[in-house]
Amino acid sequence: IAEDIKILLLENVNQSGQQLLRDQGYHVEALKSSLPEAELIEKIKDVHVIGIRSKTKLSENVLREAKHLIVVGCFCIGTNQVDLEYAANHGIAVFNSPFANSRSVAELVIAEVISLARQLGDRSNELHKGTWNKVSAKCWEIRGKTLGIIGYGHIGSQLSVLAEAMGMSVIYYDVLNLMALGTARQVPTLHALLNQADFVTCHVPELPETKNMISVTQFEQMKEGSYLINASRGTVVDIPALINAMRNGKIAGAALDVYPSEPGGNGDYFTNSLNAWAEDLRSLKNIILTPHIGGSTEEAQRAIGVEVGDALVRYVNSGVTLGAVNLPEVNLRSLMSDEQNHARVIYIHHNVPGVLRKVNEILGDHNVDKQITDNKGDVAYLMADVSDVSPTEIKEIFESLEALPSRIMTRVLY
Ligand code: NAD
Repeated sequence: IAEDIKILLLENVNQSGQQLLRDQGYHVEALKSSLPEAELIEKIKDVHVIGIRSKTKLSENVLREAKHLIVVGCFCIGTNQVDLEYAANHGIAVFNSPFANSRSVAELVIAEVISLARQLGDRSNELHKGTWNKVSAKCWEIRGKTLGIIGYGHIGSQLSVLAEAMGMSVIYYDVLNLMALGTARQVPTLHALLNQADFVTCHVPELPETKNMISVTQFEQMKEGSYLINASRGTVVDIPALINAMRNGKIAGAALDVYPSEPGGNGDYFTNSLNAWAEDLRSLKNIILTPHIGGSTEEAQRAIGVEVGDALVRYVNSGVTLGAVNLPEVNLRSLMSDEQNHARVIYIHHNVPGVLRKVNEILGDHNVDKQITDNKGDVAYLMADVSDVSPTEIKEIFESLEALPSRIMTRVLY
């Protein structure tokens, strides 16, 4: 029953997402901030669904206490803040919204390309302090310049289209062979990109292979007086190397939206002596420093709210895992929920031999209309629609599945 579903939303999840969940009749508690671990552990004990953004850490320590939790909604892009493996091994699905803010990031990067080319940040800062400093030396139009995009995914490819519309020529480097949009051109190596681009912008995921992808050697390979933008992840650019490259004039400007470590909330992070390089970054000319705002627009937040909210409703009501990051993606068209004597059975189990035989022995006495199963690593997800079953039989099915040694979680819906 919808009112029995308890949802805790932290970190000021967008209203559109909250509303979507309330409209289902779920019991929703929404808080503006994240919670310290001890409070989080207390609160998570009796909720079925938790919605978070990037600051709430759902470690094994926390998830262990979440006895009723069936699903986590990350109302953001990343899922590093959740122990995905622990969650999967305990039947807790995790959803996120990887692409709802791609356009917002692409627009920010366009703004930064022009701002850096014209030293806008410096001129504005100077005039804020009262200094009139009219300069044209080393200020450029972006028309005809080459934009080098590292990572031609959702953001990189949108950016490609926008940049070309402004008269830039676009090259990109990606580990995959991807179709170029417009007249953009894929180059075979990072080196080739760095050699040719006037502006280099990073749009790769955080991976071991992308850690310090732009470091001392790469700055050496870049063009004299070129620019670097990073709105991907803070680990991608080696910040001390960037500081050096800017100090010696190789790099004429940079924009950073992301950092190797970022704080949990707003505050005087960049004056904090824990970040050895923060002071150096602040002292450089023509560097735009923003606090991870690439995807921070009303449009993107709304789109994330709707996308993750929808995924949660689908998962709670029908067990559909499309878009889940830690469980196999399984979907069956929903039965009419007002039909009598039928049930949708979800059986999340360890992926060991012989399970399906056991499950089908249990379901086999009934009319199984549809059944689908898939696995991701050690965890498998089975969904079956069973008809002609009485409430007592449904209870028996549930209890028999719960008793199997392979069981991670059983849910019977409708
Ligand atoms: P995506 O997955 O759509 O695209 C990433 C691309 O990078 C893919 O085409 C992939 O093949 C490529 N790639 C992976 N490893 C590579 C490597 N070693 N070398 C070259 N290419 C590689 O991702 P996206 O949605 O475009 O996001 C890109 C980045 O932007 C991610 O790191 C994401 O976390 C970040 N992001 C930041 C903000 C922000 O607020 N600043 C907002 C959204 C996304």
